[in-house]
Amino acid sequence: MTRPLERWQRRIARADDLEARYPSAAELLRFYRRIARFQRDMGLDFDSLQNPPRDLSLHPARLPEPVQPYIGRLLRLLREEAPSALAQAARQLMRAEDWDPADPAPRFISRVLVQPYAQFLAARAKPRPEAVRAECPFCGEKPVAAVLRPEGEGGKRWLLCSLCATEWEFRRLLCPSCGEEDRDKLPVYAAEEFPHIRVEACDTCRTYLKAIDMTKDGLAEPEVDELAAVPLDLWAAERRYGKLQPNLMGL
Ligand SMILES: [Zn+2]
Ligand SMILES: [Zn+2]
Repeated sequence: MTRPLERWQRRIARADDLEARYPSAAELLRFYRRIARFQRDMGLDFDSLQNPPRDLSLHPARLPEPVQPYIGRLLRLLREEAPSALAQAARQLMRAEDWDPADPAPRFISRVLVQPYAQFLAARAKPRPEAVRAECPFCGEKPVAAVLRPEGEGGKRWLLCSLCATEWEFRRLLCPSCGEEDRDKLPVYAAEEFPHIRVEACDTCRTYLKAIDMTKDGLAEPEVDELAAVPLDLWAAERRYGKLQPNLMGL
């Protein structure tokens, strides 16, 4: 398994590449790069922790102890560099006593802070996921995307955890939300603009997730490519599919 630091570096570089390729996602990716640099620096600090607690609480009032020193720093960064609605929310949160975890800004902030810690813990634990479940075998969160990785003649399907970035193998024809396995009820949609990304939907429970096909683009960084393909989310929403798990940016 690659060390978390290298993974952050690759994500930052990939976001830079995709920014030039997909103007519709350029602003989002530019902001993502800023966040990913902050997360990479957090991850560097975690390397020196002696007995990191296995605590992955996403509740904004009960964040894991090792990430708490970063709350103020992140709020300052958002105040200065985030898109205006989020910057405004960050200004208010600096004064707020209690944050509502259901609001988009606290949700975003909690995930930005806990992701690098979860990825640090997962890398230490080296989970050997054999799960056939739809939740991450390490931290229990839902997947943010599927990843098709080359194997033999075709590709194997993995699910990618939205929090700790663990990947676990998952059957190709199986809805991770409701367990549907009838091929006719599991439509796949693709757009010319994104030859290596497709929407995997389920007509039974009306959920979808995006699959990043590494057999078509071996340079893809699934979390980042998933973000860049925001037009596919709009497309799915128009057809009234709901996303299995929103990405970091809440899309
Ligand atoms: Zn996880
Ligand atoms: Zn389903």
